[in-house]
Amino acid sequence: MPKILVTDPIHEDALERLKELGEVVVLEDADEEEIAEHVKDADAWVVRSGTKVTRDLIEKAERLKVIARAGVGVDNIDVEAATEKGILVVNAPESSSIAVAEHTIGLMLALARKIPQADRSVRRGEWRRKDFMGVELAGKTLGLVGLGRIGQQVAKRAKAFEMEVLAYDPYIPERVARELGVELVDDLHELLERADFVSLHVPLTDETEGLIGEEELKRMKPTAFLINCARGPIVDEDALLKALKEGWIAGAALDVYWEEPPGEDHPLYELEEETVLTPHIAGSTAEAQRAAGLIVAREIERVLSGEIPENVVNLPLAGVPDDVREMMEVGEALADVAAQVVEGRPEVVRVRVGEEPDERSKEALKRAVLKGCLDRILTEPVTMVNAVDVARDRGINFEFAVSDGLDEDEVEVEIETEGDAVRFRGRMIGDTPYLTAVDGYELRFKLKTPLLFVWHVDRPGVVGDVGVILGEHGVNIAAMEVGRRERGGEAIMVIRTDEKPPEECLRAIEEVEHVRRVELAD
Ligand code: NAD
Repeated sequence: MPKILVTDPIHEDALERLKELGEVVVLEDADEEEIAEHVKDADAWVVRSGTKVTRDLIEKAERLKVIARAGVGVDNIDVEAATEKGILVVNAPESSSIAVAEHTIGLMLALARKIPQADRSVRRGEWRRKDFMGVELAGKTLGLVGLGRIGQQVAKRAKAFEMEVLAYDPYIPERVARELGVELVDDLHELLERADFVSLHVPLTDETEGLIGEEELKRMKPTAFLINCARGPIVDEDALLKALKEGWIAGAALDVYWEEPPGEDHPLYELEEETVLTPHIAGSTAEAQRAAGLIVAREIERVLSGEIPENVVNLPLAGVPDDVREMMEVGEALADVAAQVVEGRPEVVRVRVGEEPDERSKEALKRAVLKGCLDRILTEPVTMVNAVDVARDRGINFEFAVSDGLDEDEVEVEIETEGDAVRFRGRMIGDTPYLTAVDGYELRFKLKTPLLFVWHVDRPGVVGDVGVILGEHGVNIAAMEVGRRERGGEAIMVIRTDEKPPEECLRAIEEVEHVRRVELAD
């Protein structure tokens, strides 16, 4: 009978389900030693965020086939160690979307009708009806930043409240928005200017950290409200405090913070009239917890009976030859850079190689490239396993071709959007991925970020001007190369810098005569 180890509290219905599958051992508040003893002969291991699933523990496991996270984030699990040992890691990414969406709506209503403030006032024995004049959601505009799993659920609910819904999400296909009756806008600032409520539903990435800063908050209407149930650092804390104190916006509701808990005497606590604060509970409902438990119980059932589970975070790569693994590493890195450089929503991802690989290798390469293309933009980890499904959900088409112009160890990744396309080619040299061409211009450049791409006309002085601007912004050039087909024609400059060039620096480079386009990948 398989042994299923459970080291964090999970819903009792899920426990019951697990008991039908094997011998269940539940450990409460166990230390590492006790867990080590039990994990030794366990077949499956269920955790939430409390247990640290370390490399040490994973290495002690002799029969473990699957580690299941009854929830979304897998930060507490050493996924790499599990992958190396051929252990699947599964999670339940959908489980809390409805809970977070309902909490978001709750916070919008709390802000619009000042419910927490009114509650506090009545308890103080006051009866200040005039002070609590509210506004209605009906007829107002909701601006969603991020239209993924949670954003979509919020949109559906807001529609029922007769709100007009806008969304800013540069990576979601138009179709998704259209089917929900949501207007997709291309410019975040437009959304901020038009919305009465702005709600954030993006993952925390390099791109979204500080996404809502002073400039963005100033664009919002003075009567508008901000809701953050995503991650604290998406909003610039100082800017938000300033916006609330100086009345740039009417109020904010937060479930997540820069530091959690925000700490004693946090300046937010003073802003009682302008803010509604909850302690990172948006996803915490009995139903979400039950759903997470039942989803992972089902996944464990699949693994124990030899079926492929649905929500695999990792995939052991047995059987893929070493040269293909190298091409996968290059392909993933190329796709990551290309996805950052291309403008607009990816519609087609094309991979070209020099020689026809076998089916297994082709599939592995496809998955690595799609993972590279999508990994930065989604909350759930995009993996070799789910990359194809995620790409399909996002309406991205994949094409594979063998091309005469490529050497046998070269990979080319092209990403096409409605109005743009970029083509990056590379290969492994030693143990480092190299860029060997951009849009057909040949180079030999280490594929290590930050990388600045400057499309320009090959004229004397352009390279020098770009160098000076970088210097003026305190950005050091680590390496640089120019790719061109002929003297005086179109060319591309690729620059690796020691630090990430700031936005003003990129804009200044765009102004240089003969520069056509400037893009950064970091
Ligand atoms: P998701 O991956 O399904 O959706 C995220 C969406 O953001 C995607 O559609 C993506 O295209 C879009 N996106 C990525 N980068 C963007 C950018 N720069 N600008 C605009 N859009 C961008 O994620 P989800 O499950 O909907 O989760 C959304 C957020 O909610 C995450 O930050 C997650 O951590 C958070 N969350 C919070 C709680 C809580 O308890 N408060 C619980 C669960 C999830």
